[in-house]
Amino acid sequence: MKCDICESEKSYVKEYKHEFYIKGKKITFISKRRFCENCNNLVYDPDLDNRASEIAIAKYNEEYGITKEEIIELRKKYNLSQELFSKVIGCAKKTLISYEKGKSIPNDSYLILLKSMRAKPDTIKTLIDANINQFTDKEYEKISNKIIDILPNNTKRLIVNNNDQPNEYNGYSKFSKEKIYNIILFFSKEAVLKTKLLKEMFYSDFLYYKNSCKSMTGLEYARLPYGPVPDQFEDILNKCSQEKIIDYTVDFISDYEFHNIYAKKEFDASLFTNEELDILKKIKKKFKSFGSKDIVEFSHKERAFIETKPLSKISYDYAFDIESI
Ligand SMILES: [Zn+2]
Repeated sequence: MKCDICESEKSYVKEYKHEFYIKGKKITFISKRRFCENCNNLVYDPDLDNRASEIAIAKYNEEYGITKEEIIELRKKYNLSQELFSKVIGCAKKTLISYEKGKSIPNDSYLILLKSMRAKPDTIKTLIDANINQFTDKEYEKISNKIIDILPNNTKRLIVNNNDQPNEYNGYSKFSKEKIYNIILFFSKEAVLKTKLLKEMFYSDFLYYKNSCKSMTGLEYARLPYGPVPDQFEDILNKCSQEKIIDYTVDFISDYEFHNIYAKKEFDASLFTNEELDILKKIKKKFKSFGSKDIVEFSHKERAFIETKPLSKISYDYAFDIESI
């Protein structure tokens, strides 16, 4: 390697304090560089200099972005090839490869995607649906099968039959899509606001559990800011809407959003026992005059809500603390 300035071919290597600016952030570290023995100027050394820029990228990713190890780990978690994973996030395969090798820094939009997938793995479902045109039918099926395991239970069970172990979060009952759909039909016959419907579903399962030690539907519930609701309820409502069980519309009236749900099919009472029907009727009667706000306030007084951590699943054990209706 020759010095550009004095053309001397004699050089030596020593530690050097690097300062890189990446996307406005200063990255400093020490690594080796080559110098001219004659004039002490820097001499270009492809290996050492590439190594330094990789360190700079790694340091930046570690501090402000996502590391190459994290990207590989994420892709492996979904069990996807580089080819399919790059289609999911919507980048070229060679771009993904350069991220995984630490040769470049994910741009801001990919960074946001990758970070949200790490935080909430089922984000991938939204991405797949958003990029659906990128996939052949075969690829789509392959991806769907591979990601099914990482989906939340309620969402997964809407798509595939399964035999999950009965536990305190599903109320020791098998997930019944039919019964869930029909409970929604029962409460939305004369149209219902989403907030109210979700609480009525909660009371149906929990009050039934209080009497019989099993839930009506096998649904899991979660503590959201505005009360106890079926976990992943948006997936449930969207699926109902897709299958033309309900009409799900959003109206905007002077700054407020009203999510209205209307039944599009007849309620099938034959799926339920008399005891179950009795509970459904009592709940409908109890909350008949309640607006969304009233039912939110009412449900906020439940131990099931108060004692469950935000966004966590609610144990059916709390059913015994709910006042009978
Ligand atoms: Zn020189």
